[in-house]
Amino acid sequence: MEFLHKFACFDCRVAFKRRVIEESHTGTAWQADSKLVHTCPNCGRRMAFLGRNFRAPRQSHKNKWQSVMLLWEAGFRYCGSGYHEDPALPESKAETIEFIKNNINHIQKIAGGKCWEKYT
Ligand SMILES: [Zn+2]
Repeated sequence: MEFLHKFACFDCRVAFKRRVIEESHTGTAWQADSKLVHTCPNCGRRMAFLGRNFRAPRQSHKNKWQSVMLLWEAGFRYCGSGYHEDPALPESKAETIEFIKNNINHIQKIAGGKCWEKYT
C-alpha cells in the first residue's frame, strides 16, 4: 500500500498527494516534513508538506487557504489519527491567528516555523 501525504502550493491554492520518502509503503501519520521535494505542477515552486489528513479548501476560498498557510508557517501539520484531546485546526484566518497564540503546545504542532515567502 502506498503511504502518501498532501502537499500544497499556497500561491496557486492547489494540493496534491505525493510520497515523502522513496519507500512509499513505510511511513507514519505523524510525519513532520518530507524527505522528497515536490514542486507545484502549475508554477514550479516548491510545495509545502501538510500531512496525511489535509483536505484542500476550494481554490476560490482564499480565507481558508490563508488559514492553512498560517498554520503551516507556525509548524502545525494535518497529522495523526484524529483522536486526541486538543482542539481541531481552524479554517478561517481570524480564528487561526488566535488559535496559534492559544495553542503553543498543541499535539499537531510538530514542525519548526517556516516562512512561505522564503521557502524554496
Ligand atoms: Zn503553484
